[in-house]
Amino acid sequence: MIDLKSGIQIDTKYYKVENLRNLTENTFVLTLPKSRFKYTAGQHISLAIKGDYQSREYSIYSAENGDNLEILVKEVAGGYFSPKLKHLKKGEFVEVHGPFGKFGVDEKNLNSHKHIFIASGTGIAPFHSMVKSYPGLDYQVIHGVRFANEAYEKDDYQPNRLVVCASRDENADFNGRLTEYLKTIEFSKNTCFYICGNSDMIFDSMEILKEKGFDRENVNVEVYF
Ligand SMILES: Cc1cc2nc3c(=O)[nH]c(=O)nc-3n(C[C@H](O)[C@H](O)[C@H](O)COP(=O)(O)OP(=O)(O)OC[C@H]3O[C@@H](n4cnc5c(N)ncnc54)[C@H](O)[C@@H]3O)c2cc1C
Repeated sequence: MIDLKSGIQIDTKYYKVENLRNLTENTFVLTLPKSRFKYTAGQHISLAIKGDYQSREYSIYSAENGDNLEILVKEVAGGYFSPKLKHLKKGEFVEVHGPFGKFGVDEKNLNSHKHIFIASGTGIAPFHSMVKSYPGLDYQVIHGVRFANEAYEKDDYQPNRLVVCASRDENADFNGRLTEYLKTIEFSKNTCFYICGNSDMIFDSMEILKEKGFDRENVNVEVYF
């Protein structure tokens, strides 16, 4: 299939569900076979369930060179699609389109800059892929969640490179919203920022970074909702 906007060839394939790994009561990792699917860390796919007419976008969670294609999903209460994903069984089919998007580490900053990854909830998914894909990356993840157990698979990040900010839990690195934490941090000039998650958090974070002297060209964003 050809994407009419970009003229780029896009793969459309049916994939058999290999596994569904529950991380919390309502968040899980869906594992699909990778076969020949190629992507850059930070990109997303469009996913449908075979036989269903709706689709949704999901950031790729797995590393570029990983054995599987994985996504990290939060089941949204009352949502149309994510509860259906949660109930998929091993061996059932989903339809994958993509990969899409330009959200990803800028190659020219790879070795010269510190990378600050700011995420709310499942917005950490593209950063998980980036960290796993570029082992030498100088990064810090700032993850905003409500409860400390929503720091999904935190051992996948190098020690001291993940700060979990929990707004309703005192058992995290920072007790409060990630934007409150962000206000307390000084950043060097050679820093580039990546923000992913809900639009209110992204807007507030960008305002804080602007006050710290970082304008739009230092900041990359991916809006989920
Ligand atoms: C580029 C892109 C990448 C995305 N990547 C991911 C991802 O990696 N993981 C993931 O879980 N979601 C991701 N999303 C969101 C995802 O596409 C769906 O919107 C989400 O799964 C809800 O779909 P639904 O059909 O269950 O809810 P819907 O019936 O479509 O909507 C119900 C309500 O839920 C809100 N909503 C959407 N996402 C969330 C959320 N995470 N938390 C709380 N409320 C939400 C919507 O604004 C809407 O008001 C991404 C979205 C985009 C645009």
